[in-house]
Amino acid sequence: MKFSFETDKILIAGKWRNAENNETIDVFNPSTGEVLCKVARGSAKDIDEAVLAAQAAMDGEWGRMTALERGRILTKIGEKIKKYEDELTEIESHDVGKPVKQARADAIAMARYFEFYGGSADKVMGHTIPYMEGYTVYTLREPHGVTGHIVPWNYPMQITGRCVGGALAMGNTCVLKPSEEACLTALLFARIAEEAGLPKGVLNVVPGFGAEAGAALSSHPGVHHISFTGSVGVGKLVQKAAGDNIVPVTLELGGKSPQIVFDDADLDAALPFLVAGGIQNAGQTCSAGTRILAQSGIYEKLIEMMSEKYKALQVGKATDDLDVGPLISAKQLNTVKSYIEAGEKSGLKIAAQGSIVYDAPENGNYVSPTLFRDVSNDHKLAQEEIFGPVQVVIPFDSEEEAIKIANGTEYGLVTGVWTRDGGRQLRMAKAVKAGQLFINNYGAGGGVELPFGGIGKSGFGREKGFEALYGFSVLKTVAVNHG
Ligand code: NAD
Repeated sequence: MKFSFETDKILIAGKWRNAENNETIDVFNPSTGEVLCKVARGSAKDIDEAVLAAQAAMDGEWGRMTALERGRILTKIGEKIKKYEDELTEIESHDVGKPVKQARADAIAMARYFEFYGGSADKVMGHTIPYMEGYTVYTLREPHGVTGHIVPWNYPMQITGRCVGGALAMGNTCVLKPSEEACLTALLFARIAEEAGLPKGVLNVVPGFGAEAGAALSSHPGVHHISFTGSVGVGKLVQKAAGDNIVPVTLELGGKSPQIVFDDADLDAALPFLVAGGIQNAGQTCSAGTRILAQSGIYEKLIEMMSEKYKALQVGKATDDLDVGPLISAKQLNTVKSYIEAGEKSGLKIAAQGSIVYDAPENGNYVSPTLFRDVSNDHKLAQEEIFGPVQVVIPFDSEEEAIKIANGTEYGLVTGVWTRDGGRQLRMAKAVKAGQLFINNYGAGGGVELPFGGIGKSGFGREKGFEALYGFSVLKTVAVNHG
């Protein structure tokens, strides 16, 4: 495909230039295995300059701007993203391998983040606190300053929208390090933000490898807050690096989310959510509902219904817009295949699989969506995040057992519960360990407005919604002694 911009540049202080060492990284199209373009391989030196530029912008016009003015710029960015929706969709589909509909949904969500945070910027307020005679005490919400944003490859537009949008709304400046696997929409987004009037240096974008540009950003003493979305292993490194500088971090990590189906559930209503929760974005979703907990009374019926759906799933080129596209890389393909093989070797039964269409390019990263049945919750496939279109069905008898299984992993990101029993809905809402709980739905359409984040190994801190604005700001208490 042809690009309307130079893909191999980085953005620092409003200037697009090569990485300092002039090095680049090849970008592969996951649907075909072909090289799509090159992107810059940013280094520690580039990150250092980006942080200085972000600090200079903080000290300049942006730092003095009113919340209303900031909000207007963000709203304008949202409007412009909508104008670029087709281009963003096409790029993401080629770069990440997302079926076109899913790529478009991400572009629309990114626009919505800026619309939401544009409208929120001037609505964050402090409090007055009743205190001793002669005092007036109040609180202010202030920006951290320079914020670092390390983003993964699976939802580049949505995650950039939620973290950069929230940080800018609170008046911070940003250094964005997109994933080396998928940074093209971040580069176009930065051009859109410039076009919308975001002052120079407020957003700096340095693509590059995690161990180089990412590590340099998370350990930089000039960064005042880090938002990291990615794997648990890298999250630990980022937290440690930030800890050396006593810098707060938000960690949005992985998950092994359960979808719990009770005997009284509306199975027809649940079915599309149960399957989509596992195969959306080829299963490369942190909140994928990969563990299906099914009660004994509907167990066989549910497997039959899910199997029928699985058998109809088609996998192919992202631009063909089928149910499932390719995985991001050959490495990810090997990982997912090795989980499926491990399941089979250990004697697990495959209930059903989808199929790769006959004309899917030979070198694309395709895998058949796979549904395993009768899986015990202590099996590796029920405990580890696979990050591919693989779901396991786990049987249970009682509500207590369902809670124990649902909470029986080291993660706690999202849970889905399907039941018509109102009392049970409320009991489950209290009992499950998760940052988000969906009752008789799963995901609620993505919900830019809905605070999101995990507990346990799924991370901490909340992004999305108004709640995120507290994390992207610092509370200052002012006590005035006026006698
Ligand atoms: P990853 O951890 O490999 O990479 C994420 C980002 O960190 C990339 O930009 C990468 O370049 C960077 N990075 C790598 N090594 C680094 C280092 N040493 N220091 C600093 N940065 C470094 O994750 P991934 O494979 O890109 O994404 C998949 C993971 O992300 C999954 O575990 C998934 O669950 C998680 N995820 C979580 C959420 C959420 O909101 N909770 C959303 C999407 C993805």
